[in-house]
Formats: sequence, C-alpha cells, structure tokens
Amino acid sequence: MEIVFMGTACAAAGRDRDNTSLLLRSEIGSTMIDIGGNPLGKLKRLDMRTDEVARLVLTHGHIDHIYGLPSLLWGMWLDGREKPLDIYCDESDRDWVKSWIGMLGMSEWPARYEVVVRTYAWKQPSVLVSDSDTELSIFPGRHAVPTVGVKLKHQGKVAVYSSDTELNPVIKAMSRIDLLIHEATTASRPLASHSSLREIILYYDWTAVRRLALVHLTDDEPYDEVFAEVPHYIRSRMRLAQDLESELL
Ligand SMILES: [Zn+2]
Ligand SMILES: [Zn+2]
Repeated sequence: MEIVFMGTACAAAGRDRDNTSLLLRSEIGSTMIDIGGNPLGKLKRLDMRTDEVARLVLTHGHIDHIYGLPSLLWGMWLDGREKPLDIYCDESDRDWVKSWIGMLGMSEWPARYEVVVRTYAWKQPSVLVSDSDTELSIFPGRHAVPTVGVKLKHQGKVAVYSSDTELNPVIKAMSRIDLLIHEATTASRPLASHSSLREIILYYDWTAVRRLALVHLTDDEPYDEVFAEVPHYIRSRMRLAQDLESELL
C-alpha cells in the first residue's frame, strides 16, 4: 500500500506545502484522508484519474482539512464519474457536510454520481472499511473540535495518522506502529490543541514506533534544532514529509 502525502502544511498552508492530507493508494479503490489544496492537480501529478478515489475520510471540520472538497467533486463531474463517492465524517458534522454539498448544486451540473455521507462517532474507535488484507479504522484525537486519527492495517503492517491533536494516549498505547504520521505544528513551542516535535519525541515509545513522518508543518520552525538533540538511532527513523512524497506500508 502506498501512502502519498498530498499536503504537509499546517492550517496556514506553506510556501511550498499544501494543507495536510493523505492518499491511501490502492488498486481496489483509493482513500483520501482530508482534502485541501489542489486535489485535481495533485492527482494529475500522480497520474491518477479521479474515479480511482473511492472514498474520502474527513478527520474533523477545520477549514484546512476540508476546503478542497468542492474542487474534487467538480473534477469528478468533469471526468464523467458515475460510481458513488463515500464521504465519512463525524455524526455531529453530518448536517453541515450534507448542506454544504447541497449548496454546490451538483444536481444542476448535472453530476451523474452520488455522494454518500457516512458517519462515525468520533469518541468510539470503529472500523470504516475492511477487506481480506486491509482494515481502515478511526480512533479519538485530542483537538479543539471532534477529531479522529486514522489507523490502517495492511498485510500485517500498521500505519497511524494522528490528524490534528495534542499528544494522544490512544496512539501511545498501540503496541506496534510501522509508520506513524504525526502532526508537528511547532518544533518546540507549546501550541494549544496541537503537538510539537519535541513533545512527540519525548512522549511516544520508540520501540513500538518504527518510522515517523511529520506533517502539518509550519514554515520557518526550527525543526532541525530539535532533531539535532535526538540520538542517531531514533533520528534516522524520522523525517519531515514533503508534498507528493510517499511511504510504502
Ligand atoms: Zn489542521
Ligand atoms: Zn484542526
């Protein structure tokens, strides 16, 4: 399974980064997790058609995690999509997600595909999608609004995406994470509802976490100063992610 960083910036976006979102690329239907920036351009850069995206998981309702949705829906219509698109969101976000999509006037384009809004209960860990070798689930985050992290199990390997969060004991309790994708909005200064790189390094168990890719990054933060303090055996497993780079799970 290829995990593509569609964007890696914090809420304010970056000079060279779009807002943080991910693509779980699979031949049987890819999943986008949050959506910002320029999703159509990013899919073109990946040589992907929009109908390869089977579903979208919204981790929370902050603008930097959702604002690319109208552009994606528009692009799917332009591409002649006919198969439905599933959008997952928290049950408390369902009404505004549906009304927002309604305001876009898709029936007048007219879009030939259906958007199906499916809900999860953010405080309750639950499986969204599974097949014989892949399971996609959510777990509660610790953010300013109802927010979930995402866990992907694929052929015995585990990837976890924190979404926007303070340090999360649910992630810390996981016995093995092959790839942790964690927000690091700051290098070391405290910021409410978010995590700093320094906190992440001190908090998580680096025998359980094999690799760390950092997202939701802020321009001009002194991440390298924090990395310089880290023992090499840990430092070598950590990196700042860049837009359109990918990891294999
Ligand atoms: Zn954010
Ligand atoms: Zn947020």
